Amino acid sequence: MSVIERIEITHHQQPLEPPFPAAWDSQPRRLFPATLVRVIDNEGREGVGSGDAMYGFEDFRSLFIGRDPLDLERHSGVIDNIGFHAGRCWPMEVALWDLAGKIRGEPVWRMLGGTSNRLRAYASSGTHRPLEQLVALAEQVRDAGFPAMKLRFGRPRLEDDIAALAAVRQTLGEAFTLMVDCNQGWRMPWDVQAPWDLAKASEVAEELIRHNVLWMEEPLYRGDYPGMAALNAHTGDRLKIAGGEMTREPYEFHEMLRRDCLDVYQPDAVCSIGMLGLSRLARDVTAHGKWFTPHTWGNGIGLIANLHLTAGTVGPEGCPYLEFPFDPPEWTPEARDYPLATPLTIDDAGWLSLSEAPGLGVMLDERRLRDTRTDRATYR
Ligand SMILES: [Mg+2]
Repeated sequence: MSVIERIEITHHQQPLEPPFPAAWDSQPRRLFPATLVRVIDNEGREGVGSGDAMYGFEDFRSLFIGRDPLDLERHSGVIDNIGFHAGRCWPMEVALWDLAGKIRGEPVWRMLGGTSNRLRAYASSGTHRPLEQLVALAEQVRDAGFPAMKLRFGRPRLEDDIAALAAVRQTLGEAFTLMVDCNQGWRMPWDVQAPWDLAKASEVAEELIRHNVLWMEEPLYRGDYPGMAALNAHTGDRLKIAGGEMTREPYEFHEMLRRDCLDVYQPDAVCSIGMLGLSRLARDVTAHGKWFTPHTWGNGIGLIANLHLTAGTVGPEGCPYLEFPFDPPEWTPEARDYPLATPLTIDDAGWLSLSEAPGLGVMLDERRLRDTRTDRATYR
Protein backbone atom coordinates (compact mmCIF):
# COMPACT_ATOMS: atom_id res chain seq x y z
CA MET A 1 0.00 0.00 0.00
CA SER A 2 1.12 3.52 -0.75
CA VAL A 3 1.88 5.65 2.31
CA ILE A 4 2.88 9.30 2.62
CA GLU A 5 6.64 9.36 3.17
CA ARG A 6 7.44 13.07 3.17
CA ILE A 7 6.02 16.52 2.66
CA GLU A 8 8.21 19.28 1.20
CA ILE A 9 7.24 22.94 1.39
CA THR A 10 9.29 25.52 -0.52
CA HIS A 11 8.85 29.26 -1.07
CA HIS A 12 9.72 31.00 -4.33
CA GLN A 13 9.75 34.61 -5.55
CA GLN A 14 9.82 35.61 -9.19
CA PRO A 15 10.66 39.25 -10.07
CA LEU A 16 7.80 41.10 -11.79
CA GLU A 17 9.23 43.35 -14.48
CA PRO A 18 7.69 45.85 -14.72
CA PRO A 19 6.20 45.79 -11.19
CA PHE A 20 2.50 44.90 -11.12
CA PRO A 21 0.24 47.74 -9.84
CA ALA A 22 -2.45 45.53 -8.26
CA ALA A 23 -5.62 47.53 -7.61
CA TRP A 24 -5.97 46.08 -4.10
CA ASP A 25 -2.38 46.74 -2.99
CA SER A 26 -0.95 50.08 -1.87
CA GLN A 27 2.38 49.63 -3.67
CA PRO A 28 3.29 47.97 -6.98
CA ARG A 29 4.28 44.34 -6.54
CA ARG A 30 7.92 43.72 -7.40
CA LEU A 31 7.94 40.02 -6.60
CA PHE A 32 5.42 37.26 -7.15
CA PRO A 33 5.65 34.69 -4.35
CA ALA A 34 4.59 31.05 -4.71
CA THR A 35 4.64 28.38 -2.04
CA LEU A 36 4.80 24.81 -3.33
CA VAL A 37 3.70 21.78 -1.34
CA ARG A 38 4.88 18.37 -2.49
CA VAL A 39 3.54 15.18 -0.99
CA ILE A 40 5.71 12.17 -1.81
CA ASP A 41 4.70 8.56 -1.24
CA ASN A 42 6.89 5.54 -0.46
CA GLU A 43 6.81 4.52 -4.14
CA GLY A 44 8.31 7.84 -5.28
CA ARG A 45 5.16 9.43 -6.67
CA GLU A 46 4.74 13.12 -6.01
CA GLY A 47 1.63 15.30 -5.77
CA VAL A 48 1.89 19.09 -5.89
CA GLY A 49 -0.26 21.93 -4.63
CA SER A 50 0.12 25.69 -4.34
CA GLY A 51 -1.90 28.76 -3.46
CA ASP A 52 -1.60 29.77 0.15
CA ALA A 53 1.62 30.29 2.13
CA MET A 54 1.03 27.26 4.43
CA TYR A 55 1.64 29.33 7.56
CA GLY A 56 1.36 27.20 10.66
CA PHE A 57 1.63 23.80 8.98
CA GLU A 58 4.94 22.67 10.53
CA ASP A 59 3.46 21.65 13.87
CA PHE A 60 0.96 19.34 12.16
CA ARG A 61 3.15 17.65 9.53
CA SER A 62 3.36 14.40 11.51
CA LEU A 63 -0.42 13.96 11.23
CA PHE A 64 0.07 12.93 7.60
CA ILE A 65 3.33 10.95 7.55
CA GLY A 66 2.78 7.20 7.20
CA ARG A 67 -0.89 7.65 6.23
CA ASP A 68 -2.68 6.34 3.15
CA PRO A 69 -2.71 9.22 0.61
CA LEU A 70 -6.05 7.97 -0.75
CA ASP A 71 -7.84 8.66 2.55
CA LEU A 72 -8.88 12.08 1.24
CA GLU A 73 -11.94 12.41 3.46
CA ARG A 74 -9.77 12.08 6.58
CA HIS A 75 -7.07 14.42 5.28
CA SER A 76 -9.63 17.08 4.35
CA GLY A 77 -11.02 16.92 7.89
CA VAL A 78 -7.55 17.27 9.43
CA ILE A 79 -6.69 20.27 7.21
CA ASP A 80 -9.99 21.86 8.19
CA ASN A 81 -9.08 21.39 11.86
CA ILE A 82 -5.59 22.85 11.28
CA GLY A 83 -7.34 25.98 9.94
CA PHE A 84 -9.24 26.17 13.22
CA HIS A 85 -5.94 26.27 15.16
CA ALA A 86 -3.42 27.80 12.77
CA GLY A 87 -3.39 28.66 9.04
CA ARG A 88 -5.15 27.75 5.82
CA CYS A 89 -3.27 24.74 4.50
CA TRP A 90 -5.56 23.80 1.60
CA PRO A 91 -2.67 23.57 -0.93
CA MET A 92 -1.74 20.40 1.00
CA GLU A 93 -5.11 18.91 0.08
CA VAL A 94 -4.59 19.88 -3.59
CA ALA A 95 -1.24 18.03 -3.50
CA LEU A 96 -3.00 14.98 -2.05
CA TRP A 97 -5.59 15.02 -4.87
CA ASP A 98 -2.77 15.25 -7.42
CA LEU A 99 -1.01 12.30 -5.78
CA ALA A 100 -4.25 10.30 -5.50
CA GLY A 101 -4.90 10.84 -9.20
CA LYS A 102 -1.41 9.60 -10.02
CA ILE A 103 -1.92 6.50 -7.86
CA ARG A 104 -5.29 5.77 -9.48
CA GLY A 105 -4.20 6.75 -13.01
CA GLU A 106 -7.08 9.21 -13.28
CA PRO A 107 -7.35 12.99 -13.77
CA VAL A 108 -8.76 14.90 -10.80
CA TRP A 109 -11.70 16.25 -12.83
CA ARG A 110 -12.84 12.65 -13.36
CA MET A 111 -12.33 11.71 -9.70
CA LEU A 112 -14.59 14.64 -8.77
CA GLY A 113 -17.47 13.49 -10.95
CA GLY A 114 -16.30 13.84 -14.55
CA THR A 115 -19.06 16.29 -15.50
CA SER A 116 -16.78 18.06 -17.98
CA ASN A 117 -13.09 18.57 -18.74
CA ARG A 118 -13.44 22.19 -19.80
CA LEU A 119 -14.78 25.61 -18.89
CA ARG A 120 -14.86 28.97 -20.63
CA ALA A 121 -12.60 31.62 -19.15
CA TYR A 122 -13.15 35.26 -18.41
CA ALA A 123 -10.19 37.63 -18.44
CA SER A 124 -9.83 38.97 -14.91
CA SER A 125 -7.97 42.28 -14.81
CA GLY A 126 -6.34 43.44 -11.59
CA THR A 127 -5.40 47.09 -12.12
CA HIS A 128 -6.71 50.65 -12.32
CA ARG A 129 -4.95 51.67 -15.52
CA PRO A 130 -5.31 55.06 -17.24
CA LEU A 131 -8.27 54.97 -19.66
CA GLU A 132 -6.30 54.62 -22.89
CA GLN A 133 -4.31 51.70 -21.45
CA LEU A 134 -7.50 50.08 -20.18
CA VAL A 135 -9.11 50.38 -23.61
CA ALA A 136 -6.00 48.78 -25.18
CA LEU A 137 -6.23 45.94 -22.62
CA ALA A 138 -9.91 45.40 -23.47
CA GLU A 139 -9.02 45.11 -27.15
CA GLN A 140 -6.29 42.62 -26.30
CA VAL A 141 -8.78 40.57 -24.25
CA ARG A 142 -11.27 40.48 -27.13
CA ASP A 143 -8.61 39.67 -29.73
CA ALA A 144 -7.24 36.79 -27.62
CA GLY A 145 -10.67 35.10 -27.77
CA PHE A 146 -12.02 35.72 -24.28
CA PRO A 147 -15.82 35.93 -24.21
CA ALA A 148 -15.88 38.05 -21.03
CA MET A 149 -13.81 40.47 -18.96
CA LYS A 150 -13.85 41.60 -15.34
CA LEU A 151 -12.91 45.13 -14.28
CA ARG A 152 -11.83 46.40 -10.88
CA PHE A 153 -13.59 49.25 -9.13
CA GLY A 154 -12.15 51.09 -6.13
CA ARG A 155 -10.52 54.18 -7.65
CA PRO A 156 -10.61 57.17 -5.28
CA ARG A 157 -13.59 58.67 -7.18
CA LEU A 158 -16.58 56.56 -8.22
CA GLU A 159 -17.01 58.65 -11.38
CA ASP A 160 -13.60 57.42 -12.53
CA ASP A 161 -14.69 53.81 -12.02
CA ILE A 162 -17.84 54.48 -14.05
CA ALA A 163 -15.84 56.22 -16.79
CA ALA A 164 -13.55 53.17 -17.01
CA LEU A 165 -16.53 50.86 -17.33
CA ALA A 166 -18.17 53.08 -19.95
CA ALA A 167 -14.97 53.20 -22.02
CA VAL A 168 -14.60 49.40 -21.97
CA ARG A 169 -18.29 48.92 -22.81
CA GLN A 170 -17.95 51.27 -25.74
CA THR A 171 -14.80 49.49 -26.95
CA LEU A 172 -16.17 45.95 -26.70
CA GLY A 173 -19.78 46.62 -27.69
CA GLU A 174 -23.09 45.72 -26.03
CA ALA A 175 -22.82 41.97 -26.66
CA PHE A 176 -19.55 41.46 -24.77
CA THR A 177 -19.91 40.11 -21.22
CA LEU A 178 -18.52 42.37 -18.47
CA MET A 179 -18.22 41.85 -14.73
CA VAL A 180 -17.13 44.31 -12.04
CA ASP A 181 -15.27 43.44 -8.83
CA CYS A 182 -15.87 46.03 -6.11
CA ASN A 183 -13.51 44.20 -3.67
CA GLN A 184 -15.47 45.38 -0.60
CA GLY A 185 -15.17 41.92 0.98
CA TRP A 186 -11.41 41.79 0.47
CA ARG A 187 -9.01 43.42 2.88
CA MET A 188 -5.25 43.72 2.93
CA PRO A 189 -3.93 43.66 6.52
CA TRP A 190 -3.60 47.48 6.61
CA ASP A 191 -7.04 48.21 5.11
CA VAL A 192 -9.11 49.38 8.04
CA GLN A 193 -11.53 51.76 6.32
CA ALA A 194 -15.21 50.83 6.33
CA PRO A 195 -16.51 48.97 3.27
CA TRP A 196 -19.48 50.37 1.32
CA ASP A 197 -22.87 50.31 2.97
CA LEU A 198 -26.08 49.16 1.29
CA ALA A 199 -26.99 52.67 0.05
CA LYS A 200 -23.61 53.09 -1.65
CA ALA A 201 -23.63 49.55 -3.08
CA SER A 202 -27.16 50.15 -4.44
CA GLU A 203 -26.06 53.37 -6.12
CA VAL A 204 -23.15 51.58 -7.79
CA ALA A 205 -25.42 48.66 -8.76
CA GLU A 206 -27.71 51.02 -10.73
CA GLU A 207 -24.69 52.25 -12.70
CA LEU A 208 -23.64 48.67 -13.45
CA ILE A 209 -27.16 47.85 -14.65
CA ARG A 210 -27.05 50.88 -16.97
CA HIS A 211 -23.86 49.47 -18.50
CA ASN A 212 -25.27 45.94 -18.83
CA VAL A 213 -22.85 44.27 -16.38
CA LEU A 214 -23.38 40.53 -15.73
CA TRP A 215 -22.25 40.41 -12.10
CA MET A 216 -21.28 42.78 -9.32
CA GLU A 217 -18.65 41.17 -7.11
CA GLU A 218 -18.14 41.84 -3.39
CA PRO A 219 -20.32 44.96 -3.13
CA LEU A 220 -20.41 44.79 0.68
CA TYR A 221 -18.52 43.53 3.71
CA ARG A 222 -18.25 39.74 3.45
CA GLY A 223 -20.33 39.23 6.60
CA ASP A 224 -23.13 41.65 5.69
CA TYR A 225 -25.69 38.95 4.86
CA PRO A 226 -28.75 41.22 5.35
CA GLY A 227 -27.19 43.83 3.04
CA MET A 228 -26.32 41.28 0.36
CA ALA A 229 -29.79 39.72 0.54
CA ALA A 230 -31.45 43.13 0.22
CA LEU A 231 -29.21 44.16 -2.68
CA ASN A 232 -29.75 40.84 -4.44
CA ALA A 233 -33.53 41.09 -4.04
CA HIS A 234 -33.49 44.68 -5.30
CA THR A 235 -31.34 44.02 -8.39
CA GLY A 236 -33.23 40.80 -9.25
CA ASP A 237 -32.68 39.63 -12.83
CA ARG A 238 -31.04 42.91 -13.81
CA LEU A 239 -27.68 42.17 -12.14
CA LYS A 240 -26.12 39.14 -10.44
CA ILE A 241 -24.42 39.57 -7.06
CA ALA A 242 -21.19 37.60 -6.55
CA GLY A 243 -18.91 36.98 -3.57
CA GLY A 244 -17.46 34.63 -0.99
CA GLU A 245 -13.88 34.35 -2.28
CA MET A 246 -12.36 34.47 1.21
CA THR A 247 -15.28 33.05 3.17
CA ARG A 248 -13.90 30.10 5.08
CA GLU A 249 -16.69 27.84 6.29
CA PRO A 250 -19.31 25.72 4.52
CA TYR A 251 -21.93 26.78 7.11
CA GLU A 252 -21.42 30.42 6.10
CA PHE A 253 -22.14 29.54 2.48
CA HIS A 254 -25.21 27.54 3.48
CA GLU A 255 -26.46 30.56 5.42
CA MET A 256 -25.86 32.76 2.39
CA LEU A 257 -27.77 30.29 0.22
CA ARG A 258 -30.63 30.19 2.73
CA ARG A 259 -30.86 34.00 2.74
CA ASP A 260 -30.36 34.28 -1.03
CA CYS A 261 -27.39 36.63 -0.59
CA LEU A 262 -25.64 35.81 -3.87
CA ASP A 263 -26.22 34.54 -7.40
CA VAL A 264 -22.54 33.63 -7.90
CA TYR A 265 -20.46 31.78 -5.26
CA GLN A 266 -16.68 32.16 -5.50
CA PRO A 267 -14.72 30.18 -2.88
CA ASP A 268 -11.20 29.23 -3.99
CA ALA A 269 -10.10 25.63 -3.31
CA VAL A 270 -6.55 26.70 -2.40
CA CYS A 271 -7.79 29.27 0.17
CA SER A 272 -10.82 27.75 1.86
CA ILE A 273 -12.75 24.49 2.27
CA GLY A 274 -10.64 22.59 -0.26
CA MET A 275 -11.37 20.34 -3.24
CA LEU A 276 -13.51 17.76 -1.44
CA GLY A 277 -15.52 20.25 0.61
CA LEU A 278 -16.05 22.56 -2.34
CA SER A 279 -17.06 19.71 -4.65
CA ARG A 280 -20.00 19.20 -2.27
CA LEU A 281 -20.69 22.91 -1.89
CA ALA A 282 -20.57 23.41 -5.68
CA ARG A 283 -23.35 20.85 -6.09
CA ASP A 284 -25.42 22.53 -3.35
CA VAL A 285 -24.92 25.92 -4.99
CA THR A 286 -26.01 24.72 -8.44
CA ALA A 287 -28.94 22.77 -6.93
CA HIS A 288 -30.17 26.20 -5.73
CA GLY A 289 -29.97 27.46 -9.32
CA LYS A 290 -26.86 29.55 -8.57
CA TRP A 291 -23.44 29.64 -10.20
CA PHE A 292 -20.24 28.28 -8.64
CA THR A 293 -17.21 29.98 -10.14
CA PRO A 294 -14.11 30.15 -7.92
CA HIS A 295 -11.71 32.99 -7.31
CA THR A 296 -8.41 31.90 -8.88
CA TRP A 297 -6.10 34.91 -8.48
CA GLY A 298 -2.68 33.37 -7.76
CA ASN A 299 -0.32 31.12 -9.69
CA GLY A 300 -1.40 28.62 -12.32
CA ILE A 301 -1.42 25.59 -10.00
CA GLY A 302 -4.30 27.11 -8.05
CA LEU A 303 -6.09 28.04 -11.26
CA ILE A 304 -5.70 24.47 -12.57
CA ALA A 305 -6.89 22.97 -9.25
CA ASN A 306 -10.03 25.14 -9.38
CA LEU A 307 -10.53 24.23 -13.04
CA HIS A 308 -10.48 20.49 -12.18
CA LEU A 309 -12.82 21.07 -9.26
CA THR A 310 -15.36 23.14 -11.15
CA ALA A 311 -15.31 21.36 -14.52
CA GLY A 312 -15.46 17.96 -12.80
CA THR A 313 -18.30 18.75 -10.41
CA VAL A 314 -20.63 21.23 -12.14
CA GLY A 315 -19.19 21.84 -15.63
CA PRO A 316 -20.05 24.79 -17.89
CA GLU A 317 -23.72 24.73 -16.90
CA GLY A 318 -22.90 25.54 -13.27
CA CYS A 319 -19.92 27.74 -14.18
CA PRO A 320 -20.42 29.65 -17.45
CA TYR A 321 -17.14 31.55 -16.91
CA LEU A 322 -14.07 30.74 -14.80
CA GLU A 323 -11.69 33.46 -13.63
CA PHE A 324 -8.46 33.64 -15.67
CA PRO A 325 -6.10 36.26 -14.20
CA PHE A 326 -4.89 38.26 -17.24
CA ASP A 327 -3.57 41.79 -17.17
CA PRO A 328 -0.58 42.29 -19.45
CA PRO A 329 2.06 43.58 -19.73
CA GLU A 330 2.84 42.59 -16.11
CA TRP A 331 0.34 39.82 -15.49
CA THR A 332 0.71 37.41 -18.41
CA PRO A 333 0.10 33.62 -18.34
CA GLU A 334 3.91 33.20 -18.41
CA ALA A 335 4.46 35.41 -15.34
CA ARG A 336 1.47 33.98 -13.50
CA ASP A 337 2.44 30.34 -14.14
CA TYR A 338 6.21 30.57 -13.59
CA PRO A 339 6.29 27.37 -11.46
CA LEU A 340 4.98 25.43 -14.49
CA ALA A 341 6.84 24.18 -17.57
CA THR A 342 3.93 25.38 -19.75
CA PRO A 343 1.51 28.18 -18.85
CA LEU A 344 -2.22 27.46 -19.00
CA THR A 345 -3.83 29.28 -21.92
CA ILE A 346 -7.22 29.49 -23.61
CA ASP A 347 -8.11 28.29 -27.10
CA ASP A 348 -9.44 30.64 -29.79
CA ALA A 349 -12.96 30.56 -28.34
CA GLY A 350 -11.88 31.13 -24.75
CA TRP A 351 -12.03 27.53 -23.47
CA LEU A 352 -9.69 26.06 -20.85
CA SER A 353 -9.38 22.30 -21.32
CA LEU A 354 -7.98 19.50 -19.17
CA SER A 355 -6.45 16.31 -20.48
CA GLU A 356 -6.63 12.66 -19.39
CA ALA A 357 -3.24 13.00 -17.64
CA PRO A 358 -3.47 11.61 -14.09
CA GLY A 359 -3.81 13.97 -11.14
CA LEU A 360 -3.71 17.68 -11.94
CA GLY A 361 -1.71 16.97 -15.09
CA VAL A 362 0.83 19.71 -14.37
CA MET A 363 4.56 19.65 -15.08
CA LEU A 364 6.81 21.82 -12.94
CA ASP A 365 9.70 23.92 -14.24
CA GLU A 366 12.23 22.57 -11.70
CA ARG A 367 15.04 24.74 -12.96
CA ARG A 368 13.06 27.95 -12.53
CA LEU A 369 11.89 26.75 -9.12
CA ARG A 370 15.53 26.28 -8.09
CA ASP A 371 16.42 29.75 -9.40
CA THR A 372 13.53 31.44 -7.57
CA ARG A 373 13.91 29.63 -4.23
CA THR A 374 13.66 31.89 -1.17
CA ASP A 375 12.72 31.75 2.50
CA ARG A 376 9.62 33.97 2.42
CA ALA A 377 6.28 34.43 0.73
CA THR A 378 6.10 38.22 0.36
CA TYR A 379 5.47 40.54 -2.59
CA ARG A 380 8.40 42.84 -1.91
MG1 LIG B 1 -12.80 39.07 -6.40
